[in-house]
Amino acid sequence: MTSIKGLIITTMITLTLVLSGFTKSKAAEDLALADDLSELKKSLAKAGFKVKFEKPPMQGAYGLVNIKKKTIWIAPITHEMGIFRATFIHEAVHAAQTCRTGKLQPIGWKLDVDDAVRLAIESILYRKYTSEKFDIEREAFLMQGQPNAVTEINKELIDNCNIQD
Ligand SMILES: [Zn+2]
Repeated sequence: MTSIKGLIITTMITLTLVLSGFTKSKAAEDLALADDLSELKKSLAKAGFKVKFEKPPMQGAYGLVNIKKKTIWIAPITHEMGIFRATFIHEAVHAAQTCRTGKLQPIGWKLDVDDAVRLAIESILYRKYTSEKFDIEREAFLMQGQPNAVTEINKELIDNCNIQD
C-alpha cells in the first residue's frame, strides 16, 4: 500500500514537473514580456515596426531588423540563452537609428561602459562587421548594457519617429 502511495506521489511529482516544464516553454513561446519591453514593443509598433519572436531569416543571427520591411526578428532561443533582453534592445536601437532620416545612422547617445566591455565590443565589431557598420553597431552594443536603455530608445522613437496613433 505504501509503495503504491509512493508511486502515485512520485508519478504526480513527475507530472507536475512535466506540466510546469510545458507551461514554461509555452510561456517562452508567448514571450510574456517584461513591462518595459512591452512598452518598447508598443512604441516600435507606433513607429511602424513589427516585432516577430521568430528565428530571423538570416543564418546564425539571434536578432535582425529589416529597415525596408520595418520588421524586427528576435529568435526564441535567446530566451534560453539569457540574451533575449539584450537582443531586443540591440534591434530596437537599430529601429530607432532610422527615425530621423529613414536610414541607419547613430543617434549619438553618450554611453559609458567599462573598458573591458568596450574592448569586447570593439573585438566583436572587427570580427563580425564591415567597417561602415561600426558606428551603428557600436551604439547598439553599447546600449545593451545601459540601465536606462529602454527609456532612452522609447524617447527617441516617440520624439523622432513618425508615430502613428
Ligand atoms: Zn546590430
